[in-house]
Amino acid sequence: MINDNSETILDVHGLRANVDSTEILKGFDITVKSGEIHAIMGLNGSGKSTFAKVLAGHSAYQVTAGSIQFSDQDLLALAPEERAQAGLFLAFQYPIEIPGVANSQFLRLAYNTVQVQRGNEELDPLEFDDFVREKMKLLDMNPDFLDRSVNEGFSGGEKKRNEILQMALLEPKLSILDETDSGLDIDALKIVANGVNQIANKDNATILVTHYQRLLDYIVPDYVHVMQAGRIVKTGGKELALELETRGYDWIGTGGQTNAGATA
Ligand code: ADP
Ligand code: MG
Repeated sequence: MINDNSETILDVHGLRANVDSTEILKGFDITVKSGEIHAIMGLNGSGKSTFAKVLAGHSAYQVTAGSIQFSDQDLLALAPEERAQAGLFLAFQYPIEIPGVANSQFLRLAYNTVQVQRGNEELDPLEFDDFVREKMKLLDMNPDFLDRSVNEGFSGGEKKRNEILQMALLEPKLSILDETDSGLDIDALKIVANGVNQIANKDNATILVTHYQRLLDYIVPDYVHVMQAGRIVKTGGKELALELETRGYDWIGTGGQTNAGATA
């Protein structure tokens, strides 16, 4: 979905980041424009989740060099909650459970926080209920979800769908989905992909982080990037994902070694 009147939503230059004083990101660059879907692929341990966490502002990661421009803002100058308010959404590989907090309360709080920040009216519980049920239809989610504690006892597929529901409600400018496909059966995968496709439009952008090609059968990316040892070593179109599926990652010239052997 390339957009002629596109604006740059994310511009990352020479990003270096450490965790526990080990450098993981080693000169990472990416530019994402509105209307685009990007896939970041790469073996386990190549730094994909680290990139997602650095974007979110996770406190365990120290940025040592480089810049991240998010629309017209310096992302690195923003606190994590300010990044979310500015329109950044991260769906994590392992969504957290919040026992004792009803999903409906959690979703309404998240929704209203963003609405206030955007200068819109908050929704009361009844109004929100109508609104969220419409969004849930889109995702083929059972409304019983609303009364359950956030993610508590949800199956892997249900947690992922709940993340997509949050994304649909918050209407982010940039969504990053980290391994959203892992642990999903094919039906859940199609539902999640359908949700992502419905949410994607000419004004927003999506980054899919995945090490399997499978998700990309259902969400067609404009660009595929291969990450190795903390940076992007190759960029192509959607056909690059298919090539990786058949040829693996070994044929791509490395600028260093992967951190192979680590788990995702
Ligand atoms: P990916 O998502 O591509 O599988 P990650 O970003 O999770 O890769 O990990 C990249 C590298 O960073 C791996 O070698 C991993 O072991 C290391 N790493 C990630 N988190 C930590 C941590 N908290 N402490 C030390 N090393 C870490
Ligand atoms: Mg990962």
